[in-house]
Amino acid sequence: MNILVINCGSSSLKFQLIHSETESVLAKGLCERIGIDGRLVYQPADGAKETTDAAMPTHKEAIQMVLDALMNEKTGVIKSLDEVGAVGHRLVHGGEKFASSAIITDDMMKAVEECNDLAPLHNPANIIGVNACKALMPNTPMVGVFDTAFHQTMPKEAYIYGLPYRYYEEFKVRKYGFHGTSHSFVSKKAAEILGKPLESLKTIVCHLGNGSSICAVNGGKSVDTSMGLTPLEGVMMGTRSGSIDPAIMEFIAKKENLDIDGIMNILNKESGVYGLSGVSSDFRDLENAAAEGNDKAKLAREAFCYQVAKIVGSYAAAMNGVDVIAFTAGVGENDGLVRKDICKYLGYLGLEYDEASTNVRGKEAYVSTQDSKVKALLIPTNEELAIARETLALVTK
Ligand code: ADP
Repeated sequence: MNILVINCGSSSLKFQLIHSETESVLAKGLCERIGIDGRLVYQPADGAKETTDAAMPTHKEAIQMVLDALMNEKTGVIKSLDEVGAVGHRLVHGGEKFASSAIITDDMMKAVEECNDLAPLHNPANIIGVNACKALMPNTPMVGVFDTAFHQTMPKEAYIYGLPYRYYEEFKVRKYGFHGTSHSFVSKKAAEILGKPLESLKTIVCHLGNGSSICAVNGGKSVDTSMGLTPLEGVMMGTRSGSIDPAIMEFIAKKENLDIDGIMNILNKESGVYGLSGVSSDFRDLENAAAEGNDKAKLAREAFCYQVAKIVGSYAAAMNGVDVIAFTAGVGENDGLVRKDICKYLGYLGLEYDEASTNVRGKEAYVSTQDSKVKALLIPTNEELAIARETLALVTK
């Protein structure tokens, strides 16, 4: 079966058409600038990337363009929409309502809508994407795969904040966590690589990208994760501050005469390694700047690695041990120096770093020595494939 995986943002839409038996990507691409002007980037598996500028006033026109490209006589990979067996949608926030992926129905989408105020930037865009797809492919089964679902196994002591309890009861203020599809995929892959049952392993997944989160996976279940009610909590990221003393918000607001929106903008867009370095949110730029003697870029990298290592240590404590630490996403897969600088802190756990892994990029590899008591691995994440697998499992049930 061919499965169309859709990841909708407010003005963008990424897609992949995946053949479920071979798990190969038949075509992929993205629509950008939806609602502004519109651009489709389309790439069939065995062809060149094509870019087409075309009006996309809404996500519906964008999805129509994607379907047309997939069926295009010259570079298309299917002849008709009948060849799309199912659609898997990435949905960001499922609140406490969804502990797993679910077949999309009207009632299900109502429940997703009720989570909108927990993810006001993401969920409405996701819903628009689902509705646009349903309008164009009314008879194709669709599945929603949530970023938050994997973390619904966290125990209450891990997800509750030290706030008046009524905020949890009335407004569902709690830790939810994100990147669940990636943490689930990578923790399963780690067990496969080690040749051990997932149920027997204590795993810590470091998803380090532009957004970063760390997850403690005990016996295949998420028991803690660094992002919280929103993706702002946890380690510092490309432009997000991560966890800070909350009183800093009032302090800076008074100093700079900012309202809450102004403060949130600073914490989401002007902070993290970008804010610290004043150079870039991209670790490649930080590395280059640090090599040229830029002390702030060096500090940003060091502070990032320190924060990741501290959370890894706290999760080893939470699980009373750790067997394997996995690095994934843009930074985790590509930046050997970041992996090395994080592992440097973890010798006390019994992790012996393998110097030879520093230059490895973007493929499965050991980051620790073979004899290391605690293993460290590089595992490329593949959220689209994970969504396709979940979708297949639900529509063939
Ligand atoms: P997102 O959170 O947007 O999905 P990704 O997981 O794709 O982000 O990670 C993007 C980040 O990965 C970039 O901002 C950059 O910091 C980092 N990155 C990508 N390639 C490299 C590389 N070759 N070396 C170091 N860092 C890299």
